[in-house]
Amino acid sequence: MRLSQTFNKTTKTIPGDEQAANAKLLIQAGYIYKEMAGVYAYLPLGLKVIENIKQIVREEMNGLGASELLMTSLQAKDVWELTGRWDDDKVDVWFKSQLKNGTEVGFGWSHEEPLMMMISKYVKSYRDLPVSVYQFQTKLRNELRAKSGIMRGREFLMKDMYAFSRTQAELDEFYERTKQAYLNVYKKVGLGPYTYLTFASGGAFTQFSHEFQTVTDSGEDTIYLDQNKGLAVNEEVYSDEVLSQLGLKKEELKEVRASEVGNIFNFGSAKGEQMDVYFTDESGQRKPVFLSSYGIGVSRLMGVIAEHFYDEKGLIWPKEIAPAQVYLISIGDDAVIKQADELYNVLTESGVAVIYDDRDVRPGEKFADADLMGIPWRVVINSETATNGKYEIKGRTEASPVNLAKDSLLEKISGPEK
Ligand code: ATP
Ligand code: MG
Repeated sequence: MRLSQTFNKTTKTIPGDEQAANAKLLIQAGYIYKEMAGVYAYLPLGLKVIENIKQIVREEMNGLGASELLMTSLQAKDVWELTGRWDDDKVDVWFKSQLKNGTEVGFGWSHEEPLMMMISKYVKSYRDLPVSVYQFQTKLRNELRAKSGIMRGREFLMKDMYAFSRTQAELDEFYERTKQAYLNVYKKVGLGPYTYLTFASGGAFTQFSHEFQTVTDSGEDTIYLDQNKGLAVNEEVYSDEVLSQLGLKKEELKEVRASEVGNIFNFGSAKGEQMDVYFTDESGQRKPVFLSSYGIGVSRLMGVIAEHFYDEKGLIWPKEIAPAQVYLISIGDDAVIKQADELYNVLTESGVAVIYDDRDVRPGEKFADADLMGIPWRVVINSETATNGKYEIKGRTEASPVNLAKDSLLEKISGPEK
């Protein structure tokens, strides 16, 4: 993208009530716009990061054999009443409204019940199962507090997957495979070393559910971490009994702040029984459908990544999710601009995403924005480099640039990140 032609604005004005580092940085660097507390719009660069995270998640979910779909945001009251979860005392984050004729509707905060209802219309026999589906959807939740920037929104993007199984064993097998897929996702977005499988309080038939917690001071949760085993327990289940059951030792655990970036949950046959969702097994018997559900907070993940990777100059995106790989700066006359245009075309044609800062502003402003936006490589073309046929390149966290000819430049950009 050419900055002179696209909507892209860094800003020095941060809303006064904004406390979280992720929100301050992302607003300043032009990734998000704050509509109100806990409600953020994603600007062009922010949307690119979201799409990059989604693509990583999508590949892993497809690898599990799940199919992508999109459920509705408006939800029917009677569907949620079947399990008692329409009740505001059971679910304290509902946004609700009414149709003109008085019919009550809810705004989707999760989708277990609507999906069970939907699947019951299509699944009749053991031959129709197992099946799993997922979506990326904006969830609406009337959260009490929203002080963590995009890490806790009243409107936020979630990937939610639902698996429908014939037996507990079949569910368990999918559950275990999903654990691994989730760890792959966190690794690919750059949070591998900081993210831990965490035991949390359980589902309908199981003692535990599992969370994926990323260690960060900005997190709202406390976990007890065994770094060697790569496991943690959350506050709900932290007790002598649970620790001995899991083979964990109090002396070996570290208490740390963390943010829940994913949650997987085993409902067993409870929802099938409550909602009357049954299938006919091989011997002709009616059996309840087993449900498990799997969430990843896509927008929270973006916030946690921002919190992990920044310095005094701005963001530092891992290259897998950066909105562009190269921030191209031209400083000078027509010859410089010609060389910069050429490089922009070469890079773009070879599939490298480039932010081309062709604006008519001071060089200092371009350098500052390149750092603030956190793009992995900064390439500068000035009258000196243009004369030598060289390009000046610097990794976002490198101290000083080097001058390279075009081939070496291209090699460096497609090589490992600095
Ligand atoms: P939390 O304890 O943080 O409120 P939760 O248990 O309500 O999370 P789930 O309902 O399991 O979360 O949602 C799945 C995932 O969606 C969470 O693991 C988290 O990453 C993300 N998430 C939940 N609530 C929010 C929110 N208000 N804003 C942003 N992401 C969220
Ligand atoms: Mg919650």
